[in-house]
Amino acid sequence: MMEQFHGVGVTPGRVIGRVRQMPAPVAEPAAGPVSGGVDAAAEGERIRSASKAVQAALKARAASASGDAKGVLEATALMAADPMLVKGAVKLLDASADGGARSAERAVWESGAAVADKLKSLGGYMAERATDVLDVRARIVAELRGLPAPGIPASDEPFVLAAEDLAPADTATLDPAKVTALITSGGGPQSHTAILARALGLPAVVAAAGVEAIADGAEVYVDGAAGTVQTEPGQHERDAAAAWTTQAAALAAGFAGDNRLADGHAVPLLANVATGKDAAKAAAAGAEGVGLLRTEFCFLDRDTEPTHEEQVAAYTAVFKEFGGKKVVIRTLDAGADKPLPFLTNADEPNPALGVRGYRTDWTSPGVLARQLAAIAQAAQENEAEIWVMAPMIATTDEAAHFTRLAKDAGLKTAGVMVEVPSAALTSAHILQNADFASLGTNDLTQYAMAADRMLGPLAHLNDPWQPAVLHLIKATCDGASAASAATGTAKPVGVCGEAAADPALAAVLVGLGVTTLSMSPRALPAVNRVLATITVDEARQLAAAALAAPTAEAARDAVRASLPILDELGL
Ligand code: PEP
Ligand code: MG
Repeated sequence: MMEQFHGVGVTPGRVIGRVRQMPAPVAEPAAGPVSGGVDAAAEGERIRSASKAVQAALKARAASASGDAKGVLEATALMAADPMLVKGAVKLLDASADGGARSAERAVWESGAAVADKLKSLGGYMAERATDVLDVRARIVAELRGLPAPGIPASDEPFVLAAEDLAPADTATLDPAKVTALITSGGGPQSHTAILARALGLPAVVAAAGVEAIADGAEVYVDGAAGTVQTEPGQHERDAAAAWTTQAAALAAGFAGDNRLADGHAVPLLANVATGKDAAKAAAAGAEGVGLLRTEFCFLDRDTEPTHEEQVAAYTAVFKEFGGKKVVIRTLDAGADKPLPFLTNADEPNPALGVRGYRTDWTSPGVLARQLAAIAQAAQENEAEIWVMAPMIATTDEAAHFTRLAKDAGLKTAGVMVEVPSAALTSAHILQNADFASLGTNDLTQYAMAADRMLGPLAHLNDPWQPAVLHLIKATCDGASAASAATGTAKPVGVCGEAAADPALAAVLVGLGVTTLSMSPRALPAVNRVLATITVDEARQLAAAALAAPTAEAARDAVRASLPILDELGL
């Protein structure tokens, strides 16, 4: 029987494919000794053969993978037969082991934890391998239980990946040549899974309750613009998927840089990047600069603060791709969904409202100043025009403090992200103490609506079209105009949240007074094509229509009705 699932579309695209379900995470085996003991010889053999099977499977996947994924898989394959891990587990089967004989599954679990702890205590490169050990441990336990391996399923055929949500580690092995669409029952439209889908240009629907129960191998039709998933696609859906292929080709002509409205008004389109590799791709995609360099992504797998030299190298890798162009670099935004062991406290009751972003300067003083020094050195050694900004600024005092730190480090242009409603409402004061603002609409939406951006059931609240969010964006731009008048210096406001990648919303943002838009490079051609069809005056009219709407849906519908190009391009 045909079934339809409704979620939130995060990347347009219409695709038909067969579903592969992401296996559930491996549950921890019960602790404590096995009553009556275990047959240590037989169980030891089971552990050894499970570890060999896992190693063989990983090696096979590495052989057919490329790029980063190949390296990750090869490193993990090595770990699978690690003697410390396997021998340690076998010892725990013995009745004489501390605490008595464990089951094979439990023995592998505990031995894996011990190896990971040892690696972590060594620090540096070794500490970073701890995650690989825990991944391998889960795979061996799954093998012992006769369950599918955790992580993204291996497949020779392209498939539609269905999952509750993806963990950051899973995304490293997501091969866009194999995964043709992503559907999740959880996650929000601004979760990092959604951001990854946009970066890969992967048609994606999140927060579609029920998709986790679609049978493996079932054929589905995914509409990433409408946010729907349908089983048993018919001729109508096959025609729509074929039409999308033609529309996608129209956008594939790409973006040549120099984004302008129909009246010639320039609105530079910049890219959101995390690494030098991303930056190279962004430059090739025509980005006119970088509007958000998320520095925390260079360091997410680190247990310790990166050294000055490591930081200079990481920033240089991005700066060198944009010689003579603007690069807005954001200082570490650790916390909430991006914990960093050397900065954030994993036990906070409300991490999204906790010590995150700029606030970590209060609990770990010195890290921010050292990062600014590294940024300043990389800026000096490269041709790019470097702007620096702090995440999670909430007050004028914080803005003034950050600006002072940045200028002390020798950086010329220092700004703030506006992602806390208090900053949006007080931007006139804040921008008298900072050179520019960049709206982080992902967090601004989460905090305006009091809705965790990671939660699927709250996805309808995590929508930047919500009237409250649009009014906060307007307040930020109005405050910037007042600060510009008061100081006699232009105080530009950009947008670097996912809202900038929605072509219809991009038009509204320009109408509200935003001067640059920063997005995943994949989104550049569509935003460019749509903005080229309107003048500044028309953008202002669209903004007025959106602000006047009582609901997110009404705002979106009113604006879309005035932009026929969206339907022509299948957006
Ligand atoms: C945002 O909050 O909109 C933003 C760009 O930052 P991040 O998504 O990294 O939190
Ligand atoms: Mg943010």
